[in-house]
Amino acid sequence: MTVKPESQALAAQASRCVACGLCVPHCPTYRKLESEADSPRGRVMLIRALAEGRLAAEPTLVTHLDRCLVCRACEAVCPAGVKYGELIDGARAWLAAEGKKPRGLAGWLPAVLSAPPLLAAAAMRLRGFYPARGERQGTVSLFLGCVTRLADGSTLRAAIFVLTHLGFDVRVPRGQGCCGAMHQHAGEQEQAAQLARKNIEVFAKTSLDATEPILFCATGCGATLVEYARYGTEGEAFAHRAQDVVSFLARAPGWERLPIAPLAQTVAVHEPCSGRNVLRNAADVYGLLGRIPGLQAVPLAGNEQCCGAAGLYFLRQPALARRLRADKMPRAGDALRMLVSTNQGCAHWLKQGLSEAGHRLEVEHPVQLVARQLGFTGRC
Ligand code: SF4
Ligand code: SF4
Repeated sequence: MTVKPESQALAAQASRCVACGLCVPHCPTYRKLESEADSPRGRVMLIRALAEGRLAAEPTLVTHLDRCLVCRACEAVCPAGVKYGELIDGARAWLAAEGKKPRGLAGWLPAVLSAPPLLAAAAMRLRGFYPARGERQGTVSLFLGCVTRLADGSTLRAAIFVLTHLGFDVRVPRGQGCCGAMHQHAGEQEQAAQLARKNIEVFAKTSLDATEPILFCATGCGATLVEYARYGTEGEAFAHRAQDVVSFLARAPGWERLPIAPLAQTVAVHEPCSGRNVLRNAADVYGLLGRIPGLQAVPLAGNEQCCGAAGLYFLRQPALARRLRADKMPRAGDALRMLVSTNQGCAHWLKQGLSEAGHRLEVEHPVQLVARQLGFTGRC
């Protein structure tokens, strides 16, 4: 069942906008389409008019809201504190309640990804507990994520490998599921809430210590997990514990004890929007990669703009997504051999673009790279 959000709440959030326009040049869709209705300010105005009943959910309005990437670059620079992420999710829930869901595959893919049989089968590959090696420093819990566990198990195993070698016990709680991000952004707020409540319950039940960190390996999931406070006190406790495995590792003590092999290479760092604009932890990737002697980490050109993957956006709006991705492709003469990204969806999308453009770049999660320099060969 799709529940329609309160019109007053949507209108009140939208009315915080003072129409200063500071967000406009930061918006990737505005930069490509040069239309006010495809800018954050324009969309805020459309949502306010919709919530106040001055505009109907006509196809043109739906199209402008559909084109939003939910990259939240606008929110990161807004001086009035407009919670744009909440606003666009609320507007999409409103449209969904009126039978106007985002076009394309958004309706079925989240359901497929979070299907219990698939998740259960994939989860079987990891044990429930991995003990620390050497001097023990503490315990962490690992959030798997539905896409990550299905499509990128090697990053999860690499994370366990590095964490245990640094002296952390790693719990992998059974019964955890999808973070709910895709449902949330597709206007399916009730389904997103159900998934979140399940995760909140599972992690609360399996941790002996209520402050034990919950580490995630995909910033796309993480951006949703750190906002579980919307689900009450227990959600708030979960959100406090959730953090990016990269940030945790960048700050963890004990690295001096580990034999990390040098790597004389320049590595481009892709900074996903979820990291830059929501978690605001993009600097931690450079901090973590700084543990590898000889490695030089440089920002990927165009980091300030979304790559176009944006959850399922690359399926719903393929032409625009491809235009955004093209801005990130290496220039002729670039000597880059490797690219890292903390979001698997972006990594796969960029990898496909690089391959189509004839670039031979390895693309992986930064934790995989660190693990490899520590001797990781795929087993944790
Ligand atoms: S979330 Fe991104 S695409 Fe959407 S309005 Fe804001 S800056 Fe533009
Ligand atoms: S920066 Fe904030 S207040 Fe200014 S136009 Fe954008 S959303 Fe409105």
